[in-house]
Amino acid sequence: MTYGSRSTPYTPHSSTGRMAPDNRPLLADDEPLDCEVFNPDGTSKFLILCDHASAAVPRSLHNLGLSEQQLNDHIGWDPGAAALTRGLAGMLNATAILSRWSRLVIDCNRPPGSSQSILAISDGVRVAGNEKLTPDQIRARADSAFWPYHNKISSVLDERQKDHRPTVIVSMHSFTPVLNGNRRPWEIGFLYGQDDSLAQELMQWLKRERPDLKIGDNQPYQVRQGSDYAIPVHAELRGLYSVLIEMRNNEIANEIGMMFWTSMLAEGLKSIEPKLRFISPKSLK
Ligand SMILES: [Zn+2]
Repeated sequence: MTYGSRSTPYTPHSSTGRMAPDNRPLLADDEPLDCEVFNPDGTSKFLILCDHASAAVPRSLHNLGLSEQQLNDHIGWDPGAAALTRGLAGMLNATAILSRWSRLVIDCNRPPGSSQSILAISDGVRVAGNEKLTPDQIRARADSAFWPYHNKISSVLDERQKDHRPTVIVSMHSFTPVLNGNRRPWEIGFLYGQDDSLAQELMQWLKRERPDLKIGDNQPYQVRQGSDYAIPVHAELRGLYSVLIEMRNNEIANEIGMMFWTSMLAEGLKSIEPKLRFISPKSLK
């Protein structure tokens, strides 16, 4: 299997991917059919991804039937994750790639067509605009909001591989303090799929620095082939080191918290970077 979209049934059906087959564009001419590439000339080996960077919804989807407040809550995006991503990329002089559209338009960390890709109910909230979608509407979502982001990541990784540039993928997310009534005790979680080596190094570093914190070891989620997308496809298929970092969003809800965690994570990544030569990714195929 090749990386990203090329072997899936969801490749764009027109050269631009902009038009739904019923000829009603999902994206208006002034709405971007792309993703954000922050600090494209960054020299760091870390490449930072932000799948849930934006709460924006194309105007043609009428906010999916939700209020602005609902869209700006954690169901629409990962609050704080984009600012943390840009801050970290700045401190590390790394390139970052960020999605443009809300996870409720289509989730950039779920395989298109999977049950979690376009949610009709999220954390108990009905998303009327996602009910009873036709295959063409689903394809238009993928072409407008999913593939522009992942095809960019694939092309950046292709370039870096061609240039023999070592690359370590850091996928940045935030999670809500309470989900479905359950309180989450961890300030931060380090998630992994097939390879936990980078996550373990970071957790050991952070435990030494801040023994008072509750650190989630593959919590509050795990990275799974078939249900996750970014790490399995962009890191594991290429045999790259990776880690998915989940910040509890109240930790980065104000400027002081944001500055603290941006510096902390930059310091952690810098301090483990020299070790990466001596540990090897485990069981990557
Ligand atoms: Zn997320």
